[in-house]
Amino acid sequence: MTSPLFPWQDDAWAQLQQLSERMPHAILFHGAEGIGKTLFAERFAQSLLCQSPASGGHPCGQCDSCGWFSQYSHPDYRRVRPELLDESEAAEGEEADAAEPKKAKSAKAPSKEIKIDQIRALADFMNISTHRQGMRVILLYPAEALNTAAANALLKTLEEPPPSTMFLLVSNSIDRLLPTILSRCRKFALAMPAPQQALAWLRDKGVDDADVWLAEQGGAPLAAQALAQSDVREVMDEFLRTLAHPGVETALKTADRMQKIPLNDLVSWTQRWLYDMFSLKLAERIRYYPRYQKEIGALAQRVEMSDLLGVLKSIKDRRAVAGHPLSAKLFIEDMLLDYASLFDTAR
Ligand SMILES: [Zn+2]
Repeated sequence: MTSPLFPWQDDAWAQLQQLSERMPHAILFHGAEGIGKTLFAERFAQSLLCQSPASGGHPCGQCDSCGWFSQYSHPDYRRVRPELLDESEAAEGEEADAAEPKKAKSAKAPSKEIKIDQIRALADFMNISTHRQGMRVILLYPAEALNTAAANALLKTLEEPPPSTMFLLVSNSIDRLLPTILSRCRKFALAMPAPQQALAWLRDKGVDDADVWLAEQGGAPLAAQALAQSDVREVMDEFLRTLAHPGVETALKTADRMQKIPLNDLVSWTQRWLYDMFSLKLAERIRYYPRYQKEIGALAQRVEMSDLLGVLKSIKDRRAVAGHPLSAKLFIEDMLLDYASLFDTAR
């Protein structure tokens, strides 16, 4: 059968196979959002359970195990992820890695966190014997969604791993994980694909203006595909136009109008916009928003480098609380006022 991976993942897969001689009991796959990490980890889970792996360690796709796996009914396999992803999957299929921005918007009640009950529920699963004395595989993603209680419960399990059990964790930002969890996992980095490969894949998927979306997602092809196909495009452009005209009044109006938009998206867009400004000042290059080169260039001339670095740093801190702000409107207001202060000519 053909490789079920994304075309940019073949090298990483081969590298992963080399672990099999001394297989750790927990692997943490990490890398940028929207490059297919979850699919990669799922394929690996499937290959661990497959009864007759094909050459290169790929799952055969034909045995009972592979059949159960593809229907998410394998008795020795569990997925642990926020409720939010379960809810949205029914509507969208399986590309959890890419489609998160869209998902966050449609959801209200379902949790964005992985909760302690979900980790406790694994205890029963780990106590029953496995099918044909094979392996037991637990895939958990995104690991940064573990809340504190859940992370501590998971840590206990990782400290005393049950026999023949493999934990596969996937994370978009390992700097948000507990160091104690990190130290219990073998870290496996998945790199951003080469631009040409990503572009070819996007064009093959019928994405128009593939280069624009790829640039705006920092080179992550699945994220670019999701963005190109979503209604987020329009909102994003509206937001970027407000960034092009910083000011107190714009900040207040935008906060009012955009309070229903996922804050993580707004933070990312602002962060990329600032990175572009930084990179234009420093190296006369633009990475994310080439369509706005003129606007970003004009703004870049009005800011001091040290101020810009300060706002970039505070944006990073904002990201940490964007998942659970007290008030979305105040959060946006504060972020945009901070941004507008960069251009405060009175100083
Ligand atoms: Zn198989």
